Amino acid sequence: MPRPPFPANVRQFQRQFATEEACQHYLAACRWPDGFRCPRCEHERAYTMVKQRRWKCVACRHQVSLTAGTILHNTKTPLTLWFWAAYLMTTDKRGVSALLLQRQLGLRRYETAWMMLHKLRRAMVNTAREPLHGEVEIDDTWIGGPQPGIRGSRQLKGRRAVPVLVAVERRGDRSGRVRMEVLPNFTATTMAAILKQNVAPGSTVYTDGLGGFAGLHAAGFKHIALKQPLRPALRKGAAWSCRWRTARSGISSTG
Ligand SMILES: [Zn+2]
Repeated sequence: MPRPPFPANVRQFQRQFATEEACQHYLAACRWPDGFRCPRCEHERAYTMVKQRRWKCVACRHQVSLTAGTILHNTKTPLTLWFWAAYLMTTDKRGVSALLLQRQLGLRRYETAWMMLHKLRRAMVNTAREPLHGEVEIDDTWIGGPQPGIRGSRQLKGRRAVPVLVAVERRGDRSGRVRMEVLPNFTATTMAAILKQNVAPGSTVYTDGLGGFAGLHAAGFKHIALKQPLRPALRKGAAWSCRWRTARSGISSTG
């Protein structure tokens, strides 16, 4: 959903979202980036119903909720407080606690602050769950420690170690978002299915020469298989992040 620009600093924020009505106008601009259009009759003008948080079509009187389909739906808390909470959360990198939010917003109940944070976090996670894209490095590894003398899929027996597929976005010389999935097996079908779920089509994926990665080109990815696997090091139980740490400062996960 295309969004209108978000204020760059606190003073701008305060000016832009001072009232319930202003917040509603922002939601409307998110919903209709090219201006209101009635979903029933396509008319382009609406009355605002601030109290109900709805817009009503001038022509056919159809009412559209501004909050439907969002975490703000049916909330009794003023939108101005929700906007402040979202602002504080997204601008404070250390992470806002419910107690801090309660104090800063002057909320009477701790539970309200806790619930707002919870809902906002969930919404933020969903945004971050968009598939990885661009250049993505893929590798499989074992989590749960090595089992000496056992190779390949026989590791699955007893489940003391679990094979995991790891995908990391390249962002210049740093790493971006990370996805990990437990692998039921190493077949090309499984690998392609997992990557399709986690990586946008058309992305460039880097893997080692493992046979299971052979079908990635057919699955819609630009596939570059590197010759140097470093597999023995991983099998011995080396931390899986070591491999990437040689090229960048470490792995950070945002989603
Ligand atoms: Zn209408």
